[in-house]
Amino acid sequence: MKYQAFRRALLSLAAIASLLVVLSLGRTPDEGTVTATMLQADGQLRWYRGNIHTHSLWSDGDDYPEMIALWYREQGYDFLSLSDHNILSNFERWTNPAKNKGGATAYDKLKKQFPDNWVEERTVDDHTEVRLKTFQEISELLNIPGRFLMVQGEEITDRFKNLPVHMNATNIQEQIPPLGGDSVYETMQNNVNAVIAQSERTGQPILIHLNHPNYGYGVTAEDLMRVHGENFFEIHNGAPAVANYGDETHLGTEQMWDIILAKRLMELHMPVMYGVAADDAHNYHQDAARNANPGRGWIMVLADKLVPESLIAAMNAGRFYASSGVTLNQVVSSDKSLSLEIQAEEGVTYTTEFVGTRKGADLTGMPMMGADGKPIEGRFRYSKDVGQVLKTVTGNKASYTFQGDEIYVRARVTSSKLHPNPYAKGDYEQAWVQPAIGPAGPRNE
Ligand SMILES: [Zn+2]
Ligand SMILES: [Zn+2]
Repeated sequence: MKYQAFRRALLSLAAIASLLVVLSLGRTPDEGTVTATMLQADGQLRWYRGNIHTHSLWSDGDDYPEMIALWYREQGYDFLSLSDHNILSNFERWTNPAKNKGGATAYDKLKKQFPDNWVEERTVDDHTEVRLKTFQEISELLNIPGRFLMVQGEEITDRFKNLPVHMNATNIQEQIPPLGGDSVYETMQNNVNAVIAQSERTGQPILIHLNHPNYGYGVTAEDLMRVHGENFFEIHNGAPAVANYGDETHLGTEQMWDIILAKRLMELHMPVMYGVAADDAHNYHQDAARNANPGRGWIMVLADKLVPESLIAAMNAGRFYASSGVTLNQVVSSDKSLSLEIQAEEGVTYTTEFVGTRKGADLTGMPMMGADGKPIEGRFRYSKDVGQVLKTVTGNKASYTFQGDEIYVRARVTSSKLHPNPYAKGDYEQAWVQPAIGPAGPRNE
C-alpha cells in the first residue's frame, strides 16, 4: 500500500471510529446495556440547515433561481434544492421579464444584484428576453465547499383524478415525468418506484418525500402509510394553501404522522416515517400571509460532509429534525428515554411536548361523518390515544423516560416567540424531533 493510500485508509478508519463513538454510547455500568443515539455536532459531525422544496421562474416561482439561492445562502442556510414542477433546469430556456411571474420587480433586482455580464439577454420581436440560469451555472456561482451546496431537485407534480399528488425528488439526476396510477396510493408508489430505479441505475442517492398531503386534501394517512420506499413527508409546509392543520373533516399533518407511525410499526411492519419541514416558496418580493414566502420551514441534518451523499445518508438514518425557527443542540434517544436540549434564545421560553402512542391503543379507523350524517368516503378518524401528549416540559432541556408500553415517542418544541413571517397567523416557532421507537415497538436488533 502506497503511503498516501495508507494514510487515507487510516484517516477514514479514524472517522468511522469516532462516528461509532458518537452514535453508540454502548454499555454504561449502572444502567446495563443502553444503546443510545446522540445527535450532536462535534469534530466529525455538523448540523446543516437546508430547504428542499422551493420554486423559481423555471416553473411557477416569481424570482430568478440565482436570486433565490443567494437569499438562502445569505440567510445562513447550508443547502438548497430548487424543485420546480416537472422540470430540471438543465437546458437553454429564455423568459420574457415583462410577462413572467416576477415581472419588472424581479428583473430590476436581478440586474442590480448582478451588474456585470452575468445576466444574458436577447431581443426577440422587439422585446427583451432573459436566459434562465441552469442548476450547473448556479451551483458554480454560489457553492462554497463545506459552506453552501445546491442540490438538484424536481417536484414530481402528479394527480389522481382531481387529487394533487406532489412528491419531491432531491438529488435527482434526470427528470422523471409524473407517472400517474389507478389510485392516489398507486400514483405515489409508481413515482417512488421510478425514483428508486433511477437511484439504482445512476448510483446516486435520491431522497423522495411526499409534499403537503393536505393540499387539495389529495393524500390521506391511509394512502401514504402503505407506500413502500416512502419514509419522508411534509409535516410543515410554508405555503398558505396547504392546510397543514386540516379542518373539520380532514386530519392535520401531525395527526396523520401519528396514525402512520402507529399503523406502520404495529400492523404494516414497515419503517418509521420521518417528518420534513419545507418552504415550498413561490413568492420572493413581498412578505405576506397570503404569499408562499421563504423562511418558514427547514430541516437540520447532522452529517459528516456537505455533499448530497452524506446529507441523504443522514436523513435515511433519521439524523435530522424539522424546524420553523427553534434550533436544537442535541437529541439523544435510547431504549430508555428521549431527550433534547434547545439552543435557547435570550428572553424566549420553550415548551416540549412528547407525543406518542402506547401499546393497546385502538388503531381502527372510524368513518368520518359528513353534514348529511353519512360517512365520507375514504376519511377516517382515530382514537385520541393515537398520538397522545405523554408529557409536557418547560425549559431548555426536556427528557422523557419510557414507561414500557410506548410504540414510539416523538417530540414537538414550541417557542414563546411568534414566527416573524409564519405559515399561519399566530404560529409560534417550533421544532419537530423524529420518532424514537419505544419499548413496545418493534426492535431491530
Ligand atoms: Zn406541490
Ligand atoms: Zn411545491
